[in-house]
Amino acid sequence: MISRREVLAATAAGAVMTAATARAASFGNPDEPPQGAINAKNPGSVTDPGPQNPAVAGQFPSAVSPPPTDVGSLQMDWASFNNSPRRIQDGGWARQVTQSTFPISDTISGVNMRLSAGGIRELHWHQAAEWAFMTYGNCRVTVLDTNGRPYVADVKEGDIWYFPAGYPHSLQGLGPDGCEFVICFDNGAASEFNTLLVTDWFIHTPPSVLAKNFGVPAETFAKMPLHDLWIFQGKVPGELSAVKKAMTGKAGAPPYPFTFSLGSSAPVSETKSGKVQIADSNNFKVSTTIAATLITMQPGALRQMHWHPNADEWQYYIKGKARMGVFDTGPNVLTMDFSPGDIGYVKRNFGHYVENVGNTELQFFAVFRTAQYEEISLSDWLKHSPPEMVAEHLNIDPATISEWPDDGPLIRPG
Ligand code: MN
Ligand code: MN
Repeated sequence: MISRREVLAATAAGAVMTAATARAASFGNPDEPPQGAINAKNPGSVTDPGPQNPAVAGQFPSAVSPPPTDVGSLQMDWASFNNSPRRIQDGGWARQVTQSTFPISDTISGVNMRLSAGGIRELHWHQAAEWAFMTYGNCRVTVLDTNGRPYVADVKEGDIWYFPAGYPHSLQGLGPDGCEFVICFDNGAASEFNTLLVTDWFIHTPPSVLAKNFGVPAETFAKMPLHDLWIFQGKVPGELSAVKKAMTGKAGAPPYPFTFSLGSSAPVSETKSGKVQIADSNNFKVSTTIAATLITMQPGALRQMHWHPNADEWQYYIKGKARMGVFDTGPNVLTMDFSPGDIGYVKRNFGHYVENVGNTELQFFAVFRTAQYEEISLSDWLKHSPPEMVAEHLNIDPATISEWPDDGPLIRPG
């Protein structure tokens, strides 16, 4: 015999499950058991009475209340320079996000650096290649290639540079107010706080060896600093042409520049909704391990659904408010929010899109550890598959497929 109470309990549970199932198995709400605030029948299911930090939580509406299409447990794809400790010295500062604090980012680590006018990032080299994007001001960069050919250039906002691994270089802020930039190393573990510094080597070499090496008396080096400099305040340097002349020797100049104006380069795609600019080894010859895109999007616009077959994507958000959705097998789907100074990361072949969810222009750059930029567009692929077959997958009218866009890296209107 079944008691009246058991019958009521079973009926209530059945009724709840039926209602939830009906909502879950619907357009835009696919999962079992159903997820998302839309499936929370009891209002208490979505409130957050516990301790919280509204200033932080307010930046992540997609984490506080994910779309009901989100599912699973993708590795965290958000990090930020905004909460990374700054190493401040006279002449500037730097902060970094490496794989030690951002585990997903195994191919790229990021450094955000500020140099005052005259501020010098000491002459150094390192194990990883260095790619950088100027976000502010003016900077002078120097580098020497393996044939002893020197290069010097002044860069401005929107410009990039690339130094192959091991190539020795320097950076110095220019007038009127120095510079700020973001460096990407082609190794997620690389650290700006652990580079080969010219002062470190001088200080830790016997003076007799220095004397032989440079053909001068050992006393020449008697007043060297006893500690490395890393970043220090120098004099604002003189005219570029004079410096170039002073640096040039018998070996001449390198065949290709180590700097490139990504911000003023011709877009590969431009509509009223935004534009995509690309710098890789095709147009920026020296950049053999980093390809980059600069994306500019108007409010409401969508960087269309796509993926990259040849590399992970490391993003830096320059301005505006973005929401990115990332898809992997499982299914696993994660939606996150990005503000200026934030970093995003997408594994190779994971499907993704970026929306401008603010009311101002959105701009970010993305770098890939590869010589050539590659992308597959979902729309392009499906438009160039058999229409009847695609229609059968999605239960749609095949006639609509011919209207889908197929013109490359694209920003869709809002
Ligand atoms: Mn460096
Ligand atoms: Mn992408």
